[in-house]
Amino acid sequence: MKNRFTLGLSILLLTCFAFVGFAQKKDESERLIKVLIIDGQNNHKWKETTPVLQKIYESNQAFSVEVSTSPDKKGSVEEWDAWRPKFSDYDVVVSNYNGQMWPGEVRAAFLNFVKGGGGFVVVHAANNAFTLWPEYNEMIGLGGWGGRNEKSGPYVYYQDGERVTDHSEGRGGSHGPQHEFVITKRADEHPITKGMPKQWLHTKDELYDMLRGPAKNMKILATAPSEKTKRDEPMLMALTYGEGRVFHNTLGHADYSMQCRGFYDTLLRGTEWAATNAVKIGWSEDFPTREKTSPVAASQ
Ligand code: ZN
Repeated sequence: MKNRFTLGLSILLLTCFAFVGFAQKKDESERLIKVLIIDGQNNHKWKETTPVLQKIYESNQAFSVEVSTSPDKKGSVEEWDAWRPKFSDYDVVVSNYNGQMWPGEVRAAFLNFVKGGGGFVVVHAANNAFTLWPEYNEMIGLGGWGGRNEKSGPYVYYQDGERVTDHSEGRGGSHGPQHEFVITKRADEHPITKGMPKQWLHTKDELYDMLRGPAKNMKILATAPSEKTKRDEPMLMALTYGEGRVFHNTLGHADYSMQCRGFYDTLLRGTEWAATNAVKIGWSEDFPTREKTSPVAASQ
């Protein structure tokens, strides 16, 4: 009698554990943030940087990542007709794309995705893309090159610790020689930068300056001082567009610029925020300091 009772209890417990185990597994897979990286055209070496972006997401268990590569500049009509990334299958889209305008159907699907609450992450030269696509420029807030000028919107930057909106005439987008530079936090309480050291030294990269655009619903999270403009130029930004969220990261000119612990952590947290409107990912122990960069080995 006792044995039968024990057996019954054991089966019951095993069933419970199996069920809890299954439920936990299901919960975990549901929490996995699905990332889609878009590339295929860029005046930068996207074939070198997309694998680094993939590696960064794969370094954190919160993410799964896939890539959709557009046709190149010689792409045929048939190839473009066949390129229809299914944005709605993902939580967040990461653009490493700077090239030809997407087909109308792709643009419409992308707009619906972000407006409807999807996340979008802009990396470096992706903010050079689509000068003549108004909705895209609203999403990214600020952009450069591609004929951008005062018609694109104001310059936005920090000077003497204050945010400045500057409507003066002039080109949008510029940069000096690549170098290491100090990033300064401008938003203590935003989920992406909360807990980030006030200042840290970024590895060799281009420091974008003179970006301009609609700059609506845009929070500047971090800046860097440009020797060229004598302004503190926006480096990291958070925006909202419809129900969606956008993390704009001007950093990441080359693979070596991305091999920086500061780039890793801010990209992961910014992407998590864009996807879920919250940030659980912490800061790495080897995060760079004001005086010292923290390169991440290419083999890692
Ligand atoms: Zn660049």
